[in-house]
Amino acid sequence: MSDHDFISGSKPIGIERGEGPSLYTADGTEYLDAGASYACTPLGHSHPAVVDAVQEQVGKLTFVDSSFPVQSREDAYAAFVAAAPDDLESAWFCNSGTEANEAALKFARSATGESKIIAATRSFHGRTMGSLAATWKDKYKKPFEPLAGDVEFVPYGEGKELAAAVDDETAAVILEPIQGEGGINLPPAGYLETARQLTEEAGAALIFDEVQTGMGRTGSMWACQNAGVTPDVLTAAKGLGNGLPVGAVAVQDWIADGAASHNATFSGGPVVSAAVHATISTLVEEEWPAHAAEVGDYLVDELEAALGDAVREVRGEGLLVGIELKRGANRVARDLAMNHQILALPAGRTVLRLLPPLVIDEEEADRLVDALADLVAPEATPES
Ligand SMILES: *Cc1c(COP(=O)(O)O)cnc(C)c1O
Repeated sequence: MSDHDFISGSKPIGIERGEGPSLYTADGTEYLDAGASYACTPLGHSHPAVVDAVQEQVGKLTFVDSSFPVQSREDAYAAFVAAAPDDLESAWFCNSGTEANEAALKFARSATGESKIIAATRSFHGRTMGSLAATWKDKYKKPFEPLAGDVEFVPYGEGKELAAAVDDETAAVILEPIQGEGGINLPPAGYLETARQLTEEAGAALIFDEVQTGMGRTGSMWACQNAGVTPDVLTAAKGLGNGLPVGAVAVQDWIADGAASHNATFSGGPVVSAAVHATISTLVEEEWPAHAAEVGDYLVDELEAALGDAVREVRGEGLLVGIELKRGANRVARDLAMNHQILALPAGRTVLRLLPPLVIDEEEADRLVDALADLVAPEATPES
């Protein structure tokens, strides 16, 4: 079978409910969820603030289209724009990450009047035809070609190659401020600034895809804030509604003013909007990004100390952590689940990715470290 099956997942673990950073099977076995289903539950599973907001809204008004003002949509919009980097003052909601990137590419094209898109090697931007065209891996693209878009790829992290590619026919440069699917790749210092400067000089849009890096995971609400670089367009999804299907695009005025018509029927539906508002309010009021920075630093330090030379590298920001293994990550992820009741995700062949809900504490971080040490560096693990 290919990397997806059409009905349900390939993991032999039936999940019945979730609470905080844990998932439970019907017979009550607990799993520590260090994958958060690809970063979709920053506040942990079934967070009461989100559950209450959604339950109240679904009973009051499940759906009315976006031409009607609705309080929950207005609240979500205000919260998202307030949480977006300064200068990104308009937003549009959609249903997923790929759709957010699709919109970002359309907005950039119409606002610049150009069509050329520059994307990076090892990028992942989604699976619809436009976002897929800006995604690196042939495995995802080849069977569906020709794709929609005039996309040129440059090596991620190399400013000189980016400078050679950007010109006045460029509509946009699209980058993940830290690459997720591609292996938790952090750009070298100065790279995002270079991208900012080059796009500004060329009149092109800089798009940051923060679908995986956003929502406080890296210690700031957005990873680009750690680098001090503001894009023209920022896309979000995954954790935006703490598990409800929603995406969003935030843009600077020149993009908003120049963008041609675009919309989607379910844009900013009342129920997902209630989830977005509750998620962002809770992240901000309870300062979960700062907590993610603190626990993330602790986790990385402890992993480095416990795993030592048994791995090639531990890297990341906040609670977006990659462990470059000396062997296949799939196998380690499987053993973590089966032997230690911990769920983690591979990111490429040899990188194990940890994206736990931001609400994990040091004790849960220790549990991750101990399990990984047992699997990856058993000779270094003290007898307990
Ligand atoms: C997951 C992901 C996407 C695609 O999001 P979907 O909601 O699955 O369409 C796009 N970009 C990045 C960086 C992602 O991690």
